[in-house]
Amino acid sequence: MPESNSSDDLAQLLAHLESLKRAGLADLPRVTITEVAVEVVPGHGVQGLARERPESVSGDRTAGAVAMRQSNPPDIREIATREIATPNEPSAPEIGQEAALPGMADIKPKPAVPNRPKATPAPKVAAMPVASFFDQSRVPFENPVVPPDRRPELLRVLAEEVAACTRCPHLAATRTQTVFQSGTPSARLMFIGEAPGADEDRLGEPFVGRAGQLLTDIVSKGMGLDRSEIYIANILKCRPPENRNPLPDEMANCRGFLDRQIEIVRPEFLCLLGKVAVGAILQTSVPMKTLRQRWHRYREIPTIVTWHPAYLLRNPPAKKETWEDIKMLMAEMGLKPPKS
Ligand code: SF4
Repeated sequence: MPESNSSDDLAQLLAHLESLKRAGLADLPRVTITEVAVEVVPGHGVQGLARERPESVSGDRTAGAVAMRQSNPPDIREIATREIATPNEPSAPEIGQEAALPGMADIKPKPAVPNRPKATPAPKVAAMPVASFFDQSRVPFENPVVPPDRRPELLRVLAEEVAACTRCPHLAATRTQTVFQSGTPSARLMFIGEAPGADEDRLGEPFVGRAGQLLTDIVSKGMGLDRSEIYIANILKCRPPENRNPLPDEMANCRGFLDRQIEIVRPEFLCLLGKVAVGAILQTSVPMKTLRQRWHRYREIPTIVTWHPAYLLRNPPAKKETWEDIKMLMAEMGLKPPKS
């Protein structure tokens, strides 16, 4: 027998037995063999002797390593120590531990699956004015409701943070100032628009241009409220150059500020103005015409969507649709249109 084949044969035998074990074709006794003593006898080739692993072994032991020790001639004795490691094993077992056979988990009998009890119907979501379409209520508020007398101070601190923000370097470099809010922190209704325009950038207040005047008319003439009774904020606090649409990374950068505004004010109702605000809050690209005239929910707050006032200026016939949306909102707020 060639000297180099004896230990290989033994290893092959072990590998074969293990493969049978994995395939569930053999029930091997749990014997861990880690040492093979190979004795070279002149004229008789090599004799191999498999040994059980001792309790402790001194010296370096690296998976797959073969340590050779030689005794004095003429009885040349080589001891090859080979960790029996399988190709996919992450690491060799520690000394004294059982060498886990690969695939054991696969051949273990699986526990019987008890009969499933009948599913309990999910509790119904809190009553909505009408069927909720987009429901983002699984994002709960992190903090309890802020008492109304503390809201102005918290918003002032937040506005200072916004004013110092440069997360969007290009917007921060081109803005005249940040545009944070308008209205009262105790408002029942919050309007959310897209981003400041040129007038807002100049004056530091949202919805103060022509579109802002139309929103003021909707609130005062349509809803019978004073503009100071509502709260207005935008998705972005800085004006995008040339009034372009906000970029996704800009909206992501600024989103935390708006969420904190909503959390502090905690309005009873949200009204999203235009598809940019709708997409950012409801996380959808469903067309506005599908989303209108339905109730949605954002963080527990009943929410409606309608056209942006700037769109109404370009498309006056759409004002009728916005009025339908506002009437739906007013009905839930318990408001009646002014008599005039
Ligand atoms: S848009 Fe918002 S996030 Fe970007 S720089 Fe202005 S305040 Fe900061």
